[in-house]
Amino acid sequence: MKLVVQVKLLPTPEQAAALEATLRVVNDAATWVSQLAHDRRVFRNYDLRRHVYGQVKDRYGLAAQAAQHVIKKVADAYATLHAHVRNGNLSRPGSVRRERVLARPIVFRPGAAQPFDDRCLSWQLNARTVSIWTTGGRMKGVAFTASPDQLTLLAAHRKGESDLVYRDGRWFLIATCDLPDVPVRAPDGFVGVDLGIANIATTATATATGTATGTATGTGTGTGDGVRHSGKTLNAVRHRHRELRRRLQAKATKSAKRLLKRRRRKEARFAADINHTIARRIVTEAARTGRGIALEDLQGIRDRVRLRKPQRVTLHSWSFHQLGHFIAYKAARAGVALVWVDPAYTSQACSACGHVAKNNRPDQETFACTSCGFAEHADVNAARNIAARGETGWAVSHAA
Ligand SMILES: [Zn+2]
Repeated sequence: MKLVVQVKLLPTPEQAAALEATLRVVNDAATWVSQLAHDRRVFRNYDLRRHVYGQVKDRYGLAAQAAQHVIKKVADAYATLHAHVRNGNLSRPGSVRRERVLARPIVFRPGAAQPFDDRCLSWQLNARTVSIWTTGGRMKGVAFTASPDQLTLLAAHRKGESDLVYRDGRWFLIATCDLPDVPVRAPDGFVGVDLGIANIATTATATATGTATGTATGTGTGTGDGVRHSGKTLNAVRHRHRELRRRLQAKATKSAKRLLKRRRRKEARFAADINHTIARRIVTEAARTGRGIALEDLQGIRDRVRLRKPQRVTLHSWSFHQLGHFIAYKAARAGVALVWVDPAYTSQACSACGHVAKNNRPDQETFACTSCGFAEHADVNAARNIAARGETGWAVSHAA
């Protein structure tokens, strides 16, 4: 399985200037190649290289590898654009938007990501530095920060190219790690994960195991059966950001726009951190107890979460996708079985007797079965249903 590791570079002011100059030159070169590709209708990497390799190398003073990466980057960008056109993501044929996009060559921002292979970039993991090709020559000893976990991954599994990116005044290297597949262990029961807004994730087994029911905040700890990972911290941050956004949008100046963009990214990073923490906790607990994980099939989530504002639906469904993705890859890394289940009626069905009714759930937090009288926190009840469906799903797919 493939995994990306993003590390932050800590260049000195001189090193930062060299990196900036390099990214600017390679992206200028890419824009130039892109214009040519567009004019001559040559889009494939190999064909493009035959046309422009020598010129782009001389004109921009690029090393051979850098020139090839520039050309490949342009070819990849057009391949992506053309795939969007084919899949109908750019409106109807003949529409103004589509024609406008297709009439102009792709332009690369001065800070757009640039791939570096092992000949242009080497890692000194013990010293936490990299040596990297720049337009001013090879630059050694550029420091970076990484967690012990990231260092281990990089040392054992880093493979191929890494992208150099400049974002919000900071430098990053995004490395790809190629991990061997871990065999999935046969699960001893399942834990179901219910995704929500008040509680980002609630985990429970199909039936109560007698462990104390507890709650966990986005940053706290908590294990066992019926654990709710609260969305309080995240929702508070989102609310604060929304207020600030309203004020900044009213201003509509250039600096306000820049600040807005930075805010949005900060919020996204914060949400991703929380999702990582929750995913790690869920997978670690499943691995420790030998259970599999049952997740709601993400396609259905949007239909289930009824919210008034459309942008919130987008934001939350995006966040659910991310959490599901984090859980899925962490589970794969740990050899924990994962089953996607149909999320229909998981919040209305009684996990004790199976009775389905809308008024089984009198309010957001409460589940009280109108048939058998079983009562529990609504999210825990839903998680139990999901766990039960996971067990059934696993049994069906492993019957042979
Ligand atoms: Zn019941």
